[in-house]
Amino acid sequence: MNLIDTLRRAIGERNVLCEGDLSAWELDWRKRYRGRALAVVRPGNVDEVAAVVKACAAHGTGIVPQGGNTGLVGGSVPDDSGTQLLLSLTRLNRVRDIDRANLTMTVDAGCILQSVQEAAAGEDLLFPLSLAAEGSCTIGGNLATNAGGTQVLRYGNARELCLGLEVVTATGEVWDGLTGLRKDNTGYDLRDLFIGSEGTLGVITGATLKLHPRPAARMTAFAALPTLDAAVQLLQAAQARLGAGLTGFELMSEFSLALVRKHFPQLAQPLPPAAWTVLLEQSDNESEAHARALFEALLEGALEAGTISDAAVAESLEQSRAMWHLRESIPLAQVEEGLNIKHDISLPVSRIPAFVASTDAALTRSFAGVRLVNFGHLGDGNLHYNVQAPPGVANTQFLSDNEAAVNALVYDAVTAHGGSISAEHGVGALKREELALRKPAVAMEMMRAIKRALDPAGLMNPGRML
Ligand code: FAD
Ligand code: ZN
Repeated sequence: MNLIDTLRRAIGERNVLCEGDLSAWELDWRKRYRGRALAVVRPGNVDEVAAVVKACAAHGTGIVPQGGNTGLVGGSVPDDSGTQLLLSLTRLNRVRDIDRANLTMTVDAGCILQSVQEAAAGEDLLFPLSLAAEGSCTIGGNLATNAGGTQVLRYGNARELCLGLEVVTATGEVWDGLTGLRKDNTGYDLRDLFIGSEGTLGVITGATLKLHPRPAARMTAFAALPTLDAAVQLLQAAQARLGAGLTGFELMSEFSLALVRKHFPQLAQPLPPAAWTVLLEQSDNESEAHARALFEALLEGALEAGTISDAAVAESLEQSRAMWHLRESIPLAQVEEGLNIKHDISLPVSRIPAFVASTDAALTRSFAGVRLVNFGHLGDGNLHYNVQAPPGVANTQFLSDNEAAVNALVYDAVTAHGGSISAEHGVGALKREELALRKPAVAMEMMRAIKRALDPAGLMNPGRML
């Protein structure tokens, strides 16, 4: 029997799509990668996923796993050969179990992140992973990319929030590793191999996640700063004063907020334009009054010291949401402005001011008029350091003429400052070649050995990462 017929028999005719408009699965979020799938398959449970993978293994057909298709590195869409199967996990969307005493929750991989957050909140608990795509990205995609987001400073990346996994291997076996154990030293950590593997080793079908108590109060503020050095000083002061209470520290350059003003003028900005703006968030397990006292003391101290020039503390949940909404509108404002050259980089926090000063200057020297959209998770040393065409220059032309040279300049600087060329978005198709150039040969060979061992036929997300 041919593959498509086998798949139809295994998971039902209507879950195997070969015709019509498949762009929802074949085109990536940024509209930079458009592929063509042999078919889009939508299994409904782990056994159906295993059946699909087994059938593909028998036919030597490559598989591209996909969750919410919000990934930013071209890893979630097929190539344009028409030979790769697109395996969508979104029908696996059950919350399987919440264990309140163990502070864990077991979910299907296709659960939307926001619904996982809501299920935890329904038990008065917190699942802290949070990012602007949370209304459409899936927990499987979050784990496959080891997503970061806005709460990493306190709670860690997706990796730190996962205790166990269920995986369909590249040969179609089901590995049930859904443990809620916080300690388990029984050999190699298979879970950690699959987290961050971007669909290149197997298909994540379920996960046991770590929950946290819900904070009693949350405070949010915007602070205006004259320099990046001041932002690093404010971070140190906030860490010293708030300790684990500091749950967010997001940086926004004036040009990033100017793009939001231009494309979303209806969003009021709480402070007048300043060279840099930081969004601070504090979570407190005592009370709102306790939180406010600590927070205001921090900001008053910073004003007196001249670290910040202005601050606005949210007075209500609504104002706090509006502040986060501004921050999260930066990627959307960039989409409105047109394609740019994205760099999701991390550096030691201490090196960030020097990195930005020298790299901004070098870019402006080499590419006159370029505009830098610099924002990100400063508390994690993670910048979204994006390069936009000069005013009046077509974005697509700028990219085709300069993308390679801009990347070389930025990534050389990142390397020189001891940083990473992918902080939280992953490698995918976008950074595959760059990775091979920049990761030590010994490390690349260990990665290839793992790939050969777990996916000997090379069928899992071929052409991505490695
Ligand atoms: P997809 O895009 O569908 O897939 C991503 C990768 O994972 C692909 O390689 C795919 O093959 C693989 N994959 C997906 N599901 C599975 C599975 N079940 N098993 C095996 N492999 C799988 N990321 C951050 O880290 N921090 C941010 O702050 C952040 N902000 C974002 C804001 C916006 C507006 C957008 C659009 C994206 C943002 N991202 C951010 C990118 C981020 O990687 C994704 O949003 C998310 O983690 C991917 O989830 P997804 O379900 O959409 O995965
Ligand atoms: Zn980010």
